[in-house]
Amino acid sequence: MDLERLKKIIKGMVKFNEPMKNHTSFHIGGDATVYVEPKNLEELKKILFLIQEEAIPFFVLGAGSNILVRDNGFDGIIISSENFASLEIKKNKVTAGSGLKLSFLLVSLIKKGLSGLEFLAGIPGTVGGAALMNAGSEEEGIGNFIEKIEIMDFSGKVKNIPKRKLKFSYRNANLSKYFFLSKIEFNLKDEDGNLVKERMRKSLRKKKRYQPIEKHSAGCIFKNPPGLSAGKLIEDAGLKGKKKGNAVISEKHSNYIINSGKAKAKDVLFLMEKIQEKVYKKFQVKLEPEIKII
Ligand SMILES: Cc1cc2nc3c(=O)[nH]c(=O)nc-3n(C[C@H](O)[C@H](O)[C@H](O)COP(=O)(O)OP(=O)(O)OC[C@H]3O[C@@H](n4cnc5c(N)ncnc54)[C@H](O)[C@@H]3O)c2cc1C
Repeated sequence: MDLERLKKIIKGMVKFNEPMKNHTSFHIGGDATVYVEPKNLEELKKILFLIQEEAIPFFVLGAGSNILVRDNGFDGIIISSENFASLEIKKNKVTAGSGLKLSFLLVSLIKKGLSGLEFLAGIPGTVGGAALMNAGSEEEGIGNFIEKIEIMDFSGKVKNIPKRKLKFSYRNANLSKYFFLSKIEFNLKDEDGNLVKERMRKSLRKKKRYQPIEKHSAGCIFKNPPGLSAGKLIEDAGLKGKKKGNAVISEKHSNYIINSGKAKAKDVLFLMEKIQEKVYKKFQVKLEPEIKII
């Protein structure tokens, strides 16, 4: 990898051999060869061309709240959306940069009295990561409120993808085919700000009651199979509280694996395999990871 060239084209932050445990909610992960925070679309495009010319592996990172980075790290470039954190609100139209934190967006919606996204309260991450994962609850996904998304494609072109071309399903969206999501536009409803706040509090209370959200994790590890709860299957397979090193299957919610200290990615992967094996043996159900493993 031509590191000198990279340093020349980037004004934003560039770090070498950067520990990924500093950039994930799991607090797990070896070093990335290069970690960059491009300042704008121009820089992003230059990085794209460099990646393509030199065939460098890359990964686009939001807040790292849905990923597990392996212990031997990532031999390539991690591209962070950190500097794409704009927010523009014009009446009911809310346009957020992909790197904007969901928590910041929600506080702004309370202030402006805009309703729709209350179910996101307590979900960490950025707007871009949430769009790509169609983050939400079992009933709702962020995709239902998205009007259009500004993306950069693999030829470096910046385009708007309108609602009719966006397809969202449970924890999934047809957005991985683009290089980078830069802006997400929502259409929300006018509402009394106090009511919006109360609904968010309610969602957050519910989440805190059933999920260990204050612990180091990546949220739910597996997707719920249609009509079933992954957490219940794991619990009924007798795996609640099982440990490997400092990785623990949560006592509060069995679909969470917690890093209780200095857990390694290999410990988490071991528990994931055990869960898949046992659940399949007992219920003939294949659990599919929700988290992205890199
Ligand atoms: C305690 C806890 C609770 C959680 N609860 C929930 C929940 O209730 N519901 C739920 O759905 N999720 C939940 N999650 C998972 C996670 O918070 C969401 O999936 C979140 O939306 C991920 O956003 P992120 O910015 O952290 O994305 P990351 O984890 O950084 O990335 C996720 C994916 O999005 C891609 N990506 C991110 N930004 C961009 C971009 N700008 N352009 C292109 N690709 C991009 C990444 O490449 C990756 O594939 C929880 C996680 C934790 C730790």
